[in-house]
Amino acid sequence: MASAPQTKAIISTVFIFFLGWQSVFAQVFDAQDLAEIYPKYKVAQLKDRRIKHQDILPLLEKYRSQSAFKVQKVGASVEGRSLNLISTGSGKTQVFLWSQMHGDESTATMAIFDVLAYLSDPINDAKTAQLRQNLSIHFLPMLNPDGAQVFDRRNKLGMDLNRDALRLQAPESQVLKRIRDSLEADFGFNLHDQSRYYNAAFTPKPATISFLATAFNEAKDINDTRKKSMQLIVSMNEVLQSLAPGQVGRYDDTFEPRAFGDNIQKWGTSLVLIESGGYQNDLEKQVIRQLNFVSILAALGAIADESYAQEDYQKYFDIPMNDRKLFDLKIKEVNQKWEDWQGVTDIGIQRFEVDDPAHETFYHRSQITDLGDLSTFYGYEEFDAKGYDLVLGKKYIPQPGDPKIPSISQALEMLKKGYLYWQVAQAPSKSVVEVPIFLVSPQFVVPDQSLYLGKNPNFLLRKNGIITHAIVNGYLIDLSKGTNGFRNALYLR
Ligand SMILES: [Zn+2]
Repeated sequence: MASAPQTKAIISTVFIFFLGWQSVFAQVFDAQDLAEIYPKYKVAQLKDRRIKHQDILPLLEKYRSQSAFKVQKVGASVEGRSLNLISTGSGKTQVFLWSQMHGDESTATMAIFDVLAYLSDPINDAKTAQLRQNLSIHFLPMLNPDGAQVFDRRNKLGMDLNRDALRLQAPESQVLKRIRDSLEADFGFNLHDQSRYYNAAFTPKPATISFLATAFNEAKDINDTRKKSMQLIVSMNEVLQSLAPGQVGRYDDTFEPRAFGDNIQKWGTSLVLIESGGYQNDLEKQVIRQLNFVSILAALGAIADESYAQEDYQKYFDIPMNDRKLFDLKIKEVNQKWEDWQGVTDIGIQRFEVDDPAHETFYHRSQITDLGDLSTFYGYEEFDAKGYDLVLGKKYIPQPGDPKIPSISQALEMLKKGYLYWQVAQAPSKSVVEVPIFLVSPQFVVPDQSLYLGKNPNFLLRKNGIITHAIVNGYLIDLSKGTNGFRNALYLR
């Protein structure tokens, strides 16, 4: 039992904690509440990362007819796709958010339309009143629609728009500059995606959201404008920590003279750069989209009630740096043999995406991207292979009565018998193979070495003489359990 003074101390600690908690979260919104109601506002038409300009046009139309919103065409891309600004609110603080200046970075575009759905629902009027009174909020979703069309970073001219802030050659860059200037935006949100292989430094956790208060000069000075960016990031970080603990990173703030974020900070807009990275089992970034939704609304709330200004900007530097130490799959300490040599190695595997011609879907083509002692690296998925031998797969030549292509269960049986390659007389119509075994041409020769950088990872794991696991195109398959998480194998000539 605690004595009376101790109890008092505990109570006052709890009380202080509670007050702290109150000031930590923006008063306008509660992160947990936003996360809970999110499904209601998730715009169903935007299904995955490969959204296109034609997917957002009908959504823009919807807001054109609502009196609380103003939708303006503010320019066009190289290929003539419209760039549109959606504005709401009548406050004097100007907030400008744009997304997808890199065409294959669509997470925040999806989230912007979810935020708009929330803002337009009359049921939230009481919550959003302060936003509409104090702020004028302007969204420019999908700044690079030509890139989005082919799910590519760059615009139609092959330019990285984020290196065109000084020359302003691309029409998309000119629009961004013109809107920033015409609004004289007080706050700017530059919304991007980063590689899912970034982790929060010295931890195995992915940097699901990374922030950057961009520098406006080489010296990385902190003036009033940049300080506000930092304070806002501190408040957003607090919100995110409650939803994805330890999964927030800080992007390198080296000054990039050609980038928009850095220049916009220089031009007097407090700029927050948000990078959506990776999250466990969230290849299409739908969880990350929700985190964007929550943190954008929380940030708007913190600007509207100026609670961000209470934050200690120095806490910005407490956010762990981004590090790039993640693999999709890390195999640890497998026994490897080469002629007379024997030893152990770790294997780092990354699954790269190959788009279909229309850039609607993709398949995976994996690679071994590192080998050796990878003890300072992490995997979204890790397998401790201590005591397992690495085994090269064999090629199976179908016999009369065998199917042309095995079923999933037949393929699993073949893997258990040490076969990784199934010969087919003719190349399949597509290079994607849906069963967990490689289809190969009659000319295909099984490689005599299974591990080298850049190689497509395919091998078997054997313990006590029994093959228990297969690595097929970079997916780990537990042969006692089936194809959990497997997406595709490949056809090899
Ligand atoms: Zn980007």
